[in-house]
Amino acid sequence: MDNIQAIRGTKDILPSEVIYWQHLEKTASKILEKANYHEIRTPIFEQTPLFERGIGEATDVVGKEMYTFTDRGDRSITLRPEGTAGVVRSYIQHKLFASGGIDRLWYSGAMFRYERPQAGRQRQFHQIGLELLGSRAARADVEVIAIATDILKALGLKNLSLQLNSVGSKEDRQTYRQALVNYFTPYQNDLDTDSQDRLTRNPLRILDSKDQKTQEIAKNAPNILDFLQDDSRSHFDKVCTLLTDLGILYELNPRLVRGLDYYTHTAFEIISEDLGAQATVCGGGRYDGLVTQLGGVETPAIGWAMGMERLILLLEQLQPLKPQSPDIYFVSRGEKAENQALVMAQNLRQHGFKVELDLSGSNFAKQFKRGDRSGAKICLVLGDSEVETGIIQVKNLENAEQKTVSQDQLLEILSLSL
Ligand code: ATP
Ligand code: MG
Repeated sequence: MDNIQAIRGTKDILPSEVIYWQHLEKTASKILEKANYHEIRTPIFEQTPLFERGIGEATDVVGKEMYTFTDRGDRSITLRPEGTAGVVRSYIQHKLFASGGIDRLWYSGAMFRYERPQAGRQRQFHQIGLELLGSRAARADVEVIAIATDILKALGLKNLSLQLNSVGSKEDRQTYRQALVNYFTPYQNDLDTDSQDRLTRNPLRILDSKDQKTQEIAKNAPNILDFLQDDSRSHFDKVCTLLTDLGILYELNPRLVRGLDYYTHTAFEIISEDLGAQATVCGGGRYDGLVTQLGGVETPAIGWAMGMERLILLLEQLQPLKPQSPDIYFVSRGEKAENQALVMAQNLRQHGFKVELDLSGSNFAKQFKRGDRSGAKICLVLGDSEVETGIIQVKNLENAEQKTVSQDQLLEILSLSL
């Protein structure tokens, strides 16, 4: 039988890569916690209607990309394709809104979409995201965008651009939608098949098409910013002004409509020049209608999600990160010595040292070689004769100096040399 392989579109994150993930997670969580966002962890699967209702049935995600199955109790279950719907479900279920104030939440974890796998696009992928619930203020939009740019800056990423648009209120979009249908209908036969389908179901999404001919046609389509009513317009103007006040550069992109139905007003993406085709590292926007749509009390909200795989691809282009070496490599030979080394290594770890114990049982020369390769600063050597006399050899692997010390003094000597 052939060996079983990881499923297409999924990836093992090996120890040499995990270090980048940990760096990303640490950097992001530090910045999120500083702005007093609290981590929330919701289940990886949910009832299918949560996503149908939350994301919208006419979207690609719900229409084509969800991993949906019937469980043994005949329920329709979906592996979450994104984080917001689950967070909002939890927010409503646990009445987090009861405080009446503002809730700042963040999450990270695996998401699932049945897509064509390629660099930066997988079927199981990971997002880190935040949701700010309870504020309608333009300052809220700018706070979340600023946190995103802070994280990317702290990671040392360059060549990024913030694309900004407003998709207006539901009412603004109603009028705009009609204008788009009027504009695209004469070109109907020149649009890609997906976009022909969208013409009746979800015409805004035509603007987001990756098809070249459709893009060409979409260039002259009506601009949503011309369809915003006064309130929507003034909200968007405030967002722009405040971003400028904070020194955050942005580009207006009237074709930015985002894939999910729940967005209202501000929509944004952060794009990298260094990623090729899958260039968006962060996408987000305001979703004032989602909480009521999912049965909660009316709560304006805004959030974003970053694609962690794409960020890792960028981090790997920067300086290489290496896993931390042990402080001590512990070598032993002979039954008594091996057993005692196990106890001593445990004791050293309790005193805060990072210790790797050689378990090979091979001769000292072979163990020393592995010690050299481990990157440790100190090699401890214990044989049965050392056990008899209560001593141990301490070898400094940086300068090859070796001394014999009494086991009672070991902690003191290690503290001085590490
Ligand atoms: P795209 O246009 O690239 O498909 P999207 O609009 O579907 O993105 P969102 O739902 O906004 O993506 O998700 C936010 C971010 O999550 C994206 O900007 C991207 O970085 C990442 N992402 C989305 N889908 C995938 C995937 N299949 N594999 C890896 N990362 C993904
Ligand atoms: Mg997508």
